[in-house]
Amino acid sequence: MDNRKRFAGKVLVITGGGGDIGRQTARYMAGEGASIALVDIDAEKLAAAEAELASTAGGVSTYRCDVGSYSELQAAARSIEHDLGGIDLLFNNAGYQGAFEPLHRYPADDFEAVMRVNVLGAFNVLKAVSARMVKNRKGVIVNTASMAGVDGPPNMAAYAASKFAVIGLTRTAAKDLAPYGIRVNAISPAFMGPGYMWARQVRLQAAAGSQYFSADPQVVERQMIGAVPMRRYGDISEIPGTVAFLMSDAASYITGANIPISGGI
Ligand code: NAD
Repeated sequence: MDNRKRFAGKVLVITGGGGDIGRQTARYMAGEGASIALVDIDAEKLAAAEAELASTAGGVSTYRCDVGSYSELQAAARSIEHDLGGIDLLFNNAGYQGAFEPLHRYPADDFEAVMRVNVLGAFNVLKAVSARMVKNRKGVIVNTASMAGVDGPPNMAAYAASKFAVIGLTRTAAKDLAPYGIRVNAISPAFMGPGYMWARQVRLQAAAGSQYFSADPQVVERQMIGAVPMRRYGDISEIPGTVAFLMSDAASYITGANIPISGGI
């Protein structure tokens, strides 16, 4: 079997498709033959991703949509089906890291904003896409959780709570959708760099002024990497292979799992 074309003829939807992990995964999966629909709230990021990925096999289609709005998602899903002929695979990956503040100072409006993207958004995407997969009685879904949703890091109340919720959603969705031949798993990255979230988290953990991290971002980098058994941060390019494995037939008896991509954390 040509292992590089495992997804020929399959349509993959990636939310947060304009972001670092979304774009890397799009490139990898297009290389394996998938037709890609990138969904993101940020039109500029989508345009940049489309330009960056234009030369990949099959190219990519882009859809501007707020995952927090079920009606916008329904419209995007209809357009994707119309343009690409269906939805076989879903990478439910849009996310927002939120503020970095200790619990007693954590801004309530930011808590709500994180929940709207990471929990309501993940639910909306799961619901809108799985309703279509149920009709076809097949499909594979990978949700992006985080090791923050296993561990609960300091100063990240909303993000941690939201990613615990994504793992819970994954487990229930796996049970609800198993009768229809649909598998649902999660990945939990930690300390992935270089990129927007890594740089932001180093800077904001330093600024939060807690007993857990130095006020110097360069020291924070070393503190974070020191907590990783493999003693380095993960490269974002180390994520798509796991997503592809979970979406492939090699993982045909895996559902409801949460796979850490964390250097051993
Ligand atoms: P990123 O900020 O580059 O990408 C996130 C994307 O989600 C952005 O393009 C953003 O515009 C989009 N988005 C935000 N709100 C949206 C909304 N309401 N509707 C549609 N799109 C929206 O970050 P990333 O590192 O690529 O993160 C992708 C996923 O991985 C997120 O769920 C994040 O929580 C998770 N994650 C990242 C890391 C890391 O270290 N980078 C670690 C663990 C988990």
